[in-house]
This record gives sequence, C-alpha cells and structure tokens, in this order.
Amino acid sequence: MTTTAREEFTFQTEIKQLLKILSHSLYQNSEIAIRELVSNASDSLNKLRHIQLSDAEYRDDVPLKVVLTPDAEAKRLTISDNGIGLTRDELIENLGTIAHSGSLEFMKKAAEARSQAANEEKSGGSSDLSLIGHFGVGFYAAFMLADTVDVITRSYREETGWKWTSDGTGQYTIEPVDDAPRGAQIVLHLKEDVAEEFTQDYRLESIVRRYSTFVPHPVYVGEKHVNDQPPIWVEPKSQVTPEQYKSFYQWLTRHTNEEPLWHLHLSADSPLQFQAILYCPPANLELQGFGRLEHGLALCAKRILVQDDNKDLLPDYLHFMYGLVDSADLPLNVSRETLQDNRLIPKLRRVLTKKVLDHLADLAEEQPATYAKFYEQFGTVLRGGVGVDYENREKIAKLLRLASSQNVTPGATTSLGDYVKRMREDQTQIYYLGGPDLASLLRNPHYETFRDKQLEVLFLTDPVDEFALSHLQEFEGKTLVSIDSADIQLPASTETPADSSSTDEKGGSSAIAPAGFDRVLEIFRTALGERVQDVRKATRLASSPVCLVNPQGSMSSQLQKVLSQNVKDFSLSRRILEVNPQAPLISRLAALSTSGTNDDFIADCGLQLYSSAMLLDGLVVEPDLTADRMRKLMEEAASNRSVIIT
Ligand code: ADP
Repeated sequence: MTTTAREEFTFQTEIKQLLKILSHSLYQNSEIAIRELVSNASDSLNKLRHIQLSDAEYRDDVPLKVVLTPDAEAKRLTISDNGIGLTRDELIENLGTIAHSGSLEFMKKAAEARSQAANEEKSGGSSDLSLIGHFGVGFYAAFMLADTVDVITRSYREETGWKWTSDGTGQYTIEPVDDAPRGAQIVLHLKEDVAEEFTQDYRLESIVRRYSTFVPHPVYVGEKHVNDQPPIWVEPKSQVTPEQYKSFYQWLTRHTNEEPLWHLHLSADSPLQFQAILYCPPANLELQGFGRLEHGLALCAKRILVQDDNKDLLPDYLHFMYGLVDSADLPLNVSRETLQDNRLIPKLRRVLTKKVLDHLADLAEEQPATYAKFYEQFGTVLRGGVGVDYENREKIAKLLRLASSQNVTPGATTSLGDYVKRMREDQTQIYYLGGPDLASLLRNPHYETFRDKQLEVLFLTDPVDEFALSHLQEFEGKTLVSIDSADIQLPASTETPADSSSTDEKGGSSAIAPAGFDRVLEIFRTALGERVQDVRKATRLASSPVCLVNPQGSMSSQLQKVLSQNVKDFSLSRRILEVNPQAPLISRLAALSTSGTNDDFIADCGLQLYSSAMLLDGLVVEPDLTADRMRKLMEEAASNRSVIIT
C-alpha cells in the first residue's frame, strides 16, 4: 500500500545553526529538552480537546495523556501524546522551517551574546547557552539529548501515519508508516553520555515534577502518574509553600532558575468567581534591550487551560506580569476567537488591575526596599498608566516616585503623597519642573524663587513623568503645575515684604521698579515682536534678569522641547518674557533708557536675553543673529574698557 518511499529534505539554514548550538549545549540545559517536548505534547492535547468540544466526529472516550517511556537497553526515551498529530505537510512546515518565534529570538540573542563574548575576549561560547532557558527553543531541544530523533505521528484527520527522522546535521527524511496511533511519539536515540541518566524512572520523574507539574494534562513516566497534585491556584493560600509558588512561576515563565519579585494569590466568589496567581518578574528584560515581551496570562476554565497568552486580562501598563487566572464562569468550549466577545474578560481585567495596584500600594508601605526595586525595573511601564487608565489614575499616581528639591541626592525620590504631607498649609499647588538632568534643573531661573522661599519642587528628568503629571492635573485636590507656567500661585505665607505690598491684576508683584523700567519693557516688546506673547514685569523675584514663562494652560518647556524634536511641524507656543526689575543689569538699562539715545543697545540686550533664556531650555533660536549680536556687544564692552597698566 505504501505509495511514497522515503523522501529526503534539507533544513532551513537557521535551523542548521540552531541545531549546531543545541547539540553543543551545556549539560545543565539538557533537562530543558524534556520540558519542551512535554509542553509540545500538552499543547497538542489542548488542541485536540478544543476540536473534540466543537466537533463530535472526533470525540472518543480515550483519556488524553503524555507518556514518557524509557528503554535503558535500547538507550531510548520516547515521549508520546495522543493529541492532534501531524500530517506530512505539517511535518515539513513545523519541523523543517523556523516558524516558531521563540527559536528565532533565541537565535538572535545567541548571536548577540556570542559577539559580545568575543568582544570581551571571554573564553566565549557559554553565555549564549545559558540563555536557552529563557526562550522556548521547542522541538529542536531534542537534539541536546539525542543523536537521532524519530517522530512517529498520525494526524487526527488522517489514516496514514508518517515517520520523520533526522540526526540533526543538515537533512531529515519522511516516510509513510503503518499502524501509527493518533498523536505523536518523539523517539530520542540518546547520546552516549546521557543515555543511562535519562532512562532512569526517578530521574525523569524529578524532571517532570520540576518543570511540568502544572501541565494541564496527566504526565506519566511509565505507568506512574507524576503530576497528580491539585493545581496550587485552587488551594487556600495557607496551604501553598514558597517552593510551590516558585516552581509554578518557573513553569509559567519557562525561566529555569529565576525567582519572582513578588506574587499575589487571589480568590473570589462573587460577583465573579475566579482564582488567580499573579507574579512580578525580578527584572525587566525590556530595559536590557530584549524588546517587548508579549507573554500575557494563562487563562483556565475550571482548571482546564483555555489560552496561555491572554493579553486582555491586564492593562498594557501591567503587561510584564505573569500568571494564571481560572474562572468557573468561563464556558469550557470557549475558543481564542470567541474569547474576544466574552463579557467576563473585561470584568476580570477590572478586578485584577485593581488588586495589583492595591498590592503595589501595600508593598510600597510595608516593604519599601522591594517596592523600590520594583519601581526601578517597571516604573517606566507603570507610569504610562496615568495617561490611559482614567479609572485608576489616582491609584497609579500614588505609586509614582519622583526626584525632588527636598532631597537632591542622586537616586532619592518621593511620592506625591509625601510631597502633599510636606506642603505648606496655604499651598494649593504641587510644583514641578522638567529638564534634562538634576544639575540643570537646580540652575534653572524658574527654580530660584522656590529655592529662596524653600518651596519643594519635583524634578522630572524623564519627559514620561512630565506627560504623566500633565495628564493627572490634580492630586488629592492640589493642582499640579509646572513652575515655568503662568498658572503658578505662591502661598501667601512665603511672600517677603518686598513682594507682599500688593499685587497687580496679572498677579505680578509690585516691588518698586526703578524709573525707566516701563520704558525698558516697551523697548523689549517692540524688539521681540512676534517672538513672544508679551513682555512684563517678573511675577516672582529672582536674581536672573529674565525668564520665559509659558502662558496659562500651555505645555511646559520640557514637553514642548521633546515634542518639537519628535513631532514634525510642531511649533513651540509663544511665551511671556518676564523681566526682573531688581536684577542689576535691568536697573542699569532702566537708567540708560531715560536719555533716549540708548534704545538700540537696550533692544539688542532684550533680544540677547531672550536667546539666552531659550538656550537654557535647550532651544537654539536664530543662531546667526544671536552670534552677531554677541560679537557686537563684546566689541562695545571691550571698547569701553580703559587700558590701565599697573
Ligand atoms: P512551538 O511548539 O513553540 O511552536 P516547536 O519547535 O516546539 O515550537 O514546534 C513547532 C511546531 O511543531 C509546533 O507549533 C506544532 O505545530 C508542531 N509540534 C511539535 N510537537 C508536536 C506534537 N507533539 N504534536 C503535534 N504537533 C507538534
């Protein structure tokens, strides 16, 4: 009956490279091969179960299971499942090309790690292999244990079975076989040095227990059902040991030796019935340049896995979490597609989000060191939530940690809640200032007044924080304002005699201005024209001669700067030039203005002060004119100096 003889195929180049790495892998990674093959078998059982639920034709009473059958004499280990199996085309498609993104990513990382090792002139070669545990290298991991691998398989849709064989060098063959049972048997012809170990029952049982306890199907070693304990998420918290939490995390993440930073075990009966365990990983791999990790949460209906990467159960700003959610309210036959319409998911998401945020608040309170570690790793992701999750905005805001003038030690931060506690009684606003780094912020002219009046200012060196605060607008009834904006109100209790006498309608202080000051403002106004919205007397006293203020309701300088660099055709809003009548330069200009002959010089000073103020914000305007004026002013200053020989 055999119509086709054995056919030979060549692996895709990437697979050849992958196989080469794997077959030379370190011994300690070899256990992973078992994990990968059991997990493939279990995936195949999941797929078959879904098919059976929706199509009676494929239903039967045969229990679904994974079986490991060691044969010490033949130096062989077989991992079998009675799942969907593979057709001939699927064998070529799935085991001959690198369809699996995990393997691809692993290859990329391995290449990077190798070139790095070479750069550092390390003995090289081993760092890439330690990465294997972080990626699902999948089926090809079999070649870490075996010289030759056979896959004997029959698809649930077909009568004919196939045998795929390869020695992992460059080629594989496929031939038809009779009597193959439904599903797949992966036959490992074990390498000499691992043959004894990987055919011993106790050794295989301990590997299955370690990596596959939570596989949602029975796994047998010979006749023995190894993963027979109930899943830990349905157990009461008090009965789960730290070791069990840890190994569940390792199963979920496939990270062999990593411990989570914290976990949350939830159980609810109404209005929703669900159990969940959520984990925060110890480090944010995205910060190490790994790109976005798209893992999602596992979703179960009455302990049966429905989907292992659901991304709708938590908001995007918590996408780094791992975990499993099990709800009896979810219909068992729900598929990936129908899940999207399931009304339960948004409800679960709402509860889970709230629980995670509440847990973080507790953590910040009770274990500040762990929280600090968490924030260092995931703060950048979390704070993005302020702008998108209106419902939880205040909760997320409480979790923010920001630098502040109250303690400028590098790395020191405060929460908004603590800032509010330190506020003066009559202070109605929370002040912040954005800038490139702490040193520039401390020198910013806008900060001078606040420093002198000992008013705390939050220093935001990352524009993301500023976006978050500008979205938030308010915290515990206090308005958040950037101190370079015109919306600033200083507490009355901080006013000094010089600026407390009265305030004009613009809120400007009326410290006595020298004669001619109004004339200076007028000359500046004319010279600057359209560059600014207005020129006026400084509302806050400072030692700097001028500063640029953003009109009420407009974005802070830092945000405008970031946008102007990233958004095409973004135009900066026109600002208000505030002039300080008390600054020595300005009083001198005021005196000079009375004669009427110095108007050009005063105009040049106005333009130059404007350019310099922009420069302090990191913005270069009219470089040609600015440089010209600078030269002219220096010539004038030089010619006015006398030559005194001492
Ligand atoms: P992954 O399982 O992560 O997709 P693998 O390299 O492990 O990557 O497997 C590639 C593909 O081969 C799988 O996606 C699946 O379609 C198929 N496959 C592997 N093992 C089995 C199996 N035991 N039964 C059915 N199909 C399998």
